[in-house]
Amino acid sequence: MNIINPATGEIIKTLEADNGSTIGNKYQKLRLGQTAWAARLLSERIAIIAKFSALLQAEKSELAAILSSEVGKPVGQAVGEINGATGRIKFFLENAEKWLATELIHEEPNLKELISYEALGVIANISAWNYPYLVGVNVFIPALIAGNAVLYKPSEFASLTGVEIARLLYAAGVPEDAFALVLGEAQAGQALLELPLDGYFFTGSYATGKYIAEQVAKKLVPCQLELGGKDPLYVSAYNDDIAKVAVNAAEGAFYNTGQSCCAVERIYVHADVYDQFVAEFVKETKTYKMGNPTEEGVFIGPLTRAAQIAVLENQVQDALSKGAELLLGGKAMEGKGYYFEPTILTNVNHTMLVMTEESFGPIIGIQKVADSQEAIALMRDTVYGLTAAIYSNNEAEMKDFLAQMNSGTVYSNCCDRVSANLPWTGRGHSGLGSTLSYIGIRAFVQPKAWHIRG
Ligand code: NAD
Repeated sequence: MNIINPATGEIIKTLEADNGSTIGNKYQKLRLGQTAWAARLLSERIAIIAKFSALLQAEKSELAAILSSEVGKPVGQAVGEINGATGRIKFFLENAEKWLATELIHEEPNLKELISYEALGVIANISAWNYPYLVGVNVFIPALIAGNAVLYKPSEFASLTGVEIARLLYAAGVPEDAFALVLGEAQAGQALLELPLDGYFFTGSYATGKYIAEQVAKKLVPCQLELGGKDPLYVSAYNDDIAKVAVNAAEGAFYNTGQSCCAVERIYVHADVYDQFVAEFVKETKTYKMGNPTEEGVFIGPLTRAAQIAVLENQVQDALSKGAELLLGGKAMEGKGYYFEPTILTNVNHTMLVMTEESFGPIIGIQKVADSQEAIALMRDTVYGLTAAIYSNNEAEMKDFLAQMNSGTVYSNCCDRVSANLPWTGRGHSGLGSTLSYIGIRAFVQPKAWHIRG
């Protein structure tokens, strides 16, 4: 497997990919080791994961440089991702005991009814490249804490980071027969689907997620899917500081070069504040420095995958051919690396791909609406359901608006935000099941009902 630096297009490393045979061997080892791992005290597993978190912090600079070199993320954002990951681990460390403890549900003379929570067994964690630390720890940390063994397949675009994660988990004390790294592209993922695993936890695109769900269905084991989005944001007429809203919205659209599952992908603005918002949004976006992710002050790095350039170009051409207006950007940069200019399109509508299909890049459509009812109808007009945001200082409008959103997450006066305290869950083509929060701890266990007489 050639690892390519998206900032230069050059091969920076070659790794050996797994094949069906090596993956089968890793599975056998984990199948034998999982029982002993689950039999250890929960407090021991928690202590090991705490050590892993400390190692992530201790090696943060080196890890951020490696991450940046393979996904093109500006180094400051890579450091931010590792800090975010240790923050999430802290949540799991502090909450696992509470949510995994056996519960006495009912008691009467000569009868006790309890629920215990047991590990699923050996699970697959098939992951994405855009936030490999964050989306990885959402799964393999609570899975390991609960006593599962994990076959972790990082994205082929984040393999070096996968190698580092495995190294640090082992250094922290996770046994080699409780966690195994699986390197490779789709074929390696396919090999995991052919094993008799006890659960599949996938982060990635709708197309792959749907395929995995179909393959796993006949196994009758849990299958969780964290998929893409086309996340909308509405700027209501009830706003005092439109410039501030524009700064927030632009960051939500362009952070991580727009390659976030919960990036703002489409914006609707009340006609009364539309002109001012668009002017401020363009002004803010023009301040973003695009360039090599190792350079100081760079906010927009290259796209991780060269293939996405064609997707973005197609969305721009499609929109322009249907009457959109291009206010900024619109094309890839010439020269080395997979750079695409931050792009703003107005006069857009839902006949255009840019308003209906996941862009996953630094491109945004801004549509004028007459009122919040029109915004609600347009925001609900999607097959996705990850997040939806409103900026409004009218509390009644905000509550009514967000209650009508059909998405796993809703935001008032913020966007592009994930909290470990709350479930991360998509509806429709955005996925199935939840990570994070107590629900994302319980996702990795199965309940056992105890009826105790005598
Ligand atoms: P992807 O679907 O291309 O790949 C994801 C993983 O699946 C990779 O590890 C890949 O090797 C593996 N894979 C590919 N084909 C497979 C197959 N046939 N069988 C088994 N495994 C296979 O997605 P990506 O490009 O890595 O990630 C981008 C997508 O992920 C975007 O749509 C984004 O919105 C989504 N995402 C969602 C969340 C969330 O929390 N909802 C978080 C991050 C990313």
